[in-house]
Amino acid sequence: MKVLFNGRLMERGECAVDIEDRGYQFGDGVYEVIRIYNGILFTLGEHIARLYKSAAEIGIDLSFSEAELKSQLKELVDINQMRDGGLYLQVTRGKAPRKHQYEAGLTPQVTAYTFPIQKPEKEQQNGVSAITADDMRWLRCDIKSLNLLYNVMIKQKAHEASSFEAILIRDGLVTEGTSSNVYVVKQNVIYTHPVTTLILNGITRMKVLQLCEQNGLNFEEKAVTKDELLDADEVFITSTTAEVIPVTSIDGQTIGSGAPGPLTKNVQTALQNSILSETAKTV
Ligand code: PMP
Repeated sequence: MKVLFNGRLMERGECAVDIEDRGYQFGDGVYEVIRIYNGILFTLGEHIARLYKSAAEIGIDLSFSEAELKSQLKELVDINQMRDGGLYLQVTRGKAPRKHQYEAGLTPQVTAYTFPIQKPEKEQQNGVSAITADDMRWLRCDIKSLNLLYNVMIKQKAHEASSFEAILIRDGLVTEGTSSNVYVVKQNVIYTHPVTTLILNGITRMKVLQLCEQNGLNFEEKAVTKDELLDADEVFITSTTAEVIPVTSIDGQTIGSGAPGPLTKNVQTALQNSILSETAKTV
């Protein structure tokens, strides 16, 4: 398996990240996870645009173009013959003697590798349980930064409670999951948190809302309360790796009928169709 390191393809063992890389020491960097279907990087343009936006927000200047990066990533997928899996892409501010502030002119360090993914089919079909937790993250959750410590702590809590995800609540309102966006269905309307600095605007979220629009499914970008979450007809989460997963129980309480609901299933089907049509190879 090859990895991409600063524009060069090499064996993983040859890739040497400096111990004073600011990503390693401060989490000073940004990242993306991209899904590969049929050897094609799904919604690649959207992911790369978000990476550049996150980098710009923290003052990392990328000296290469989006087109250059995209073509390197495609090369990586091809050389690894990765048909179905994921790609992790990370950009850090660069290496420098350790101090919090940084000088201009550092060279961002770019790493990418591909990895296998087991599609969570059972979870998608049967639904999962979730817990709720206070959203105690910083207030720039719109930046896809390497700093995931609170997300890690809370996801671990969910895992230890045999739950798939933790749904975060800030000031009484549902924001998102530790690694997913959250949707609540009530009386045939899908509610999800609006795009603010309090959530990551998921690429899957954008795709799902676009598909809702195209398929005449009613949605509103409006935050719901924890009570409304627990009282929902249906709840589901989305992410690049999870796609669309129904949440059928939260904090031990059954949601709706306790089974994946009709609107969730509609959204699942719409996303699968979109993936199939966008990653069908034209030979
Ligand atoms: N919110 C958070 C906090 C996440 O980590 C993720 C996963 N990247 C998402 C939402 C979903 O984003 P996407 O659909 O782009 O994977």
